[in-house]
Amino acid sequence: MLQLEALAREAVALAGGEAEVARQMQICNACRYCEGFCAVFPAMTRRLDFNKADIHYLANLCHNCGACLHACQYAPPHEFAVNVPQAMAVVRGQTYSDYAWPPALGALYKRNGLTLSLAAASGLALFLIMLVGMRGSLLHAPLAGNFYAVFPHNTLALMFGVVFAFAVVALAIGVSRFWRDQNPVRAEPVEAGPPTGSGRTEGAAGEAVASALSLKYLGGGHGDGCNDQDDRFTLWRRRFHHATFYGFMLCFAATCVATLYHYVLKLQAPYALTSLPVLLGTAGGVGLLIGPAGLLWLNLRRDPAHGDAAQKPMDRGFIALLFATSLTGLAVLIWRDTSPMALLLAVHLGVVMALFLTLPYGKFAHGIFRCAALLKFAIEKRQPNRLALGAD
Ligand code: SF4
Ligand code: SF4
Repeated sequence: MLQLEALAREAVALAGGEAEVARQMQICNACRYCEGFCAVFPAMTRRLDFNKADIHYLANLCHNCGACLHACQYAPPHEFAVNVPQAMAVVRGQTYSDYAWPPALGALYKRNGLTLSLAAASGLALFLIMLVGMRGSLLHAPLAGNFYAVFPHNTLALMFGVVFAFAVVALAIGVSRFWRDQNPVRAEPVEAGPPTGSGRTEGAAGEAVASALSLKYLGGGHGDGCNDQDDRFTLWRRRFHHATFYGFMLCFAATCVATLYHYVLKLQAPYALTSLPVLLGTAGGVGLLIGPAGLLWLNLRRDPAHGDAAQKPMDRGFIALLFATSLTGLAVLIWRDTSPMALLLAVHLGVVMALFLTLPYGKFAHGIFRCAALLKFAIEKRQPNRLALGAD
């Protein structure tokens, strides 16, 4: 009786997108046709009812590959109107702001993601251009790529140190809030049937990292890829995500190596075009041009039934900032020994700062939450299944 009352309270607490995911998961749990497509369905089979935390977990486990919509016999126009990718996308977008820190910034970004991204990038770029202008002229004699002649090293280190620390703290608070709700290793009562799973969690972190780095679940369950425009499968979404992610990581590695050069090896920038920081940064910049451009191209062609139309501006804002970061960074590199270098540098730094300031509130956060959901999935499947009805 008490359990029924708790379930009723939970059902009342669910609203909007969460209630819709719970409804569709009840149908999927009876059907189970898509069990082998991705991690969402095996995770679903471990539950008979879905509370708020379960729904947030499943929504972030979903990679929005579209496969279960194109395979579904209950998809619209069927009266059941099952559209799992869209229902999950709505809730996933909600989780970015629900768990965001500070919450007000999360809510603001959710409402005006694209405008906020572009306003922050232009505002910061203009501010830095004004700082350059205060030196007397926006143009200067060629400086052989010496950025520190424009903005002193300590000024740059302070500005980016503060922005980077803010992004890390905000993301860490967001993901720790999400993780606290999930609590994947709590003891679940065994209600029926023999338990499955070893109950040990060794190897879970490795499995989660491998799934995240390979984007395993953008393979559609068969390895042929996602559905994008229609029933055809394509691996381009996975490839462009990889170009974006590894491009970003190479740029980050370039910054780390340059920091080591500066502080440990006492080598001052500018570095030669054949030096490790420049090679890493160039490779990363090219990846960050190709990846976001490809993702935008796919985003514009995508079947609207796959996603939440309200999130498109936010998605495109993030893609635009990533593209602008690499474009302006490569422009600075190409024209680093010319008179508008300071101007280009100011624009690039403004875009990078805007990117880091907005990272915790939009599409970047989905990567962090998805890693947490994959880790929970890897842990959970090693736990005894309290229902023992699923395929694991
Ligand atoms: S998405 Fe459709 S076909 Fe797939 S499990 Fe759910 S109801 Fe069944
Ligand atoms: S859209 Fe893809 S990843 Fe999401 S639930 Fe469906 S099959 Fe799984």
